[in-house]
Amino acid sequence: MPFTSLGLPPDLAQSALAQGYAQPTPIQEAAIPAVLQGGDVLATAQTGSGKTAAFCLPLLRQWLASPRAVLRLPQALILLPTRELAAQVGGILRDLAQGLPRKLKVAVVYGGVSIKPQMMALRGGADIVVATPGRLLDLLDHNALRLSAVKTLVLDEADRLLDLGFADELAQTLARLPASRQNLLFSATFPPAVRALAEKLLNQPLRIDIERTAATAPDIRQRAIEVDAAQRTMLLRHLLQSHDWDRALVFVASRMAADRVAGKLQRHGVAAAALHGDCSQSQRGQALADLKSGQLRVLVATDVAARGIDIARLPLVVNYDLPRSPADYTHRIGRTGRAGASGEAISFVSADCAAHFRLIEKRQGLRLPRERIAGFEPCAVAPAAAASSDPDSNGGIKGKRKSKKDKLREAAARQQAEGGTDAS
Ligand code: AMP
Repeated sequence: MPFTSLGLPPDLAQSALAQGYAQPTPIQEAAIPAVLQGGDVLATAQTGSGKTAAFCLPLLRQWLASPRAVLRLPQALILLPTRELAAQVGGILRDLAQGLPRKLKVAVVYGGVSIKPQMMALRGGADIVVATPGRLLDLLDHNALRLSAVKTLVLDEADRLLDLGFADELAQTLARLPASRQNLLFSATFPPAVRALAEKLLNQPLRIDIERTAATAPDIRQRAIEVDAAQRTMLLRHLLQSHDWDRALVFVASRMAADRVAGKLQRHGVAAAALHGDCSQSQRGQALADLKSGQLRVLVATDVAARGIDIARLPLVVNYDLPRSPADYTHRIGRTGRAGASGEAISFVSADCAAHFRLIEKRQGLRLPRERIAGFEPCAVAPAAAASSDPDSNGGIKGKRKSKKDKLREAAARQQAEGGTDAS
C-alpha cells in the first residue's frame, strides 16, 4: 500500500520514499489515517516499528494544509523524555520536510546545554517544537515561546513521560496548552498504571495495538548467559573477541558502573565509551556519533541515556546489569533488530539476580535456555538457585508452586502405591 492511499499528499509520500520508506509499516498504516482524522490516538508499537514517522508524517500533512500566519506560532508540540530522542526526532522531521513546497521550521529544545541559543532560535517562531519537559518549561518561563496555537500534542515514549519522574512537569505543560487539542500517545509499552493516566489525558482515543507479528517482530535472538557478577567484564571482552560484532550497546545499572566498565574495556584495547546523565551534551552526542561511524565499538550506557535512540544496524545489546522492569527489557533489546535487520540481545544472569530474570521472562512470556561459556562457568549459588534443586521450587514465581493439598494427595498416592507393592 503506498503512502498516498493513507491520505498523505504526493509531496510527503515522495519525502518518505526519499528516506528509503518504500512501503508504510503496520503502525504507519494504522496511525497515519487515524491522526489525519483529527482524534486522539493511543498507540502501542514496538521500538523499531517506524512509529516516529507514523506521527511525523501526518503532523507535516496538517502543517502543510494550514494557512500561513504572520506570527509563526507552533502548531504541534512533541514531548520526549531524553535529549538524544529529541535530537533524533527533530532530525527525522527535518529530513522528511526536505523538498516540501514550504520551509518548515522545527525547534528542538532540551536541557543540559545553554538556554540562550535555544531562545535565539525561537525568536522568529517555529512551526513544530520538539522538547524535553524541563527545558520547555524554562523557555515558557522566559517568554521565549507561546503554546496558544498548538493543535496537536505528541507524547513519544509516553510511558516514561507519564510516570512519576515527569508528572509535575507534564501537568504544568498541559496547563499551558489549549484545552481543545489533539493528543497522540506513542510507546512500546504501557504498563497498567500508566495506561490509566493516559486514559485520563485522552478524549475517546482510537487505540492502536500493533501486535508482535511475523511482520513487525524484530528479528532479535535473545540469550541468557549464567556468569558470576565479578566475571562479567572478562566475559564481555571474551565475547567481543570471539565474535565479529562491529558495535555493541552494553546496559549497566548506574553512572559509576558505566564509567567503570567502559574504563576497563578501554584499558584492554576495546574502543569503548560511557553514556549517562552526567556526561555533557557534547560528550553524549560525540559518543553516539562515534558509535554510529564505527570509531567506537562499545557504548556502555544507563537506561535513561539510551532510551529510544536509534543506531542503525546495531547487532548486539548486552544486559550487563539486568533491567529493573520487563518494560525496560523491551526497550533495551529493541535497540537492536531495527528496521528489518537482525540482532542479538544477551543478558548476563548472575546467581543473585536469577529470580529477577525469571520474573522478566515470565512477564515477557519467554523462557530462555541458560547458557554457560567455557572458562566463565559460575561458582556462586544464590538462595533461589539453591532452592531450584528442590523439584517443588519454581524460583518464587507465584502460581506454579504445588499447594499443600496437592502435596498431601501425592503423599497419599505414594503410600497407596507402596502398599500395593507390598501386597503383591
Ligand atoms: P522508529 O520505530 O521510529 O524508531 O523507526 C525505526 C527505524 O525504521 C528508523 O531507522 C526508520 O528510519 C525506519 N523506518 C521508518 N519507517 C519505515 C518504512 N516505512 N520503511 C522502512 N524503514 C522505515
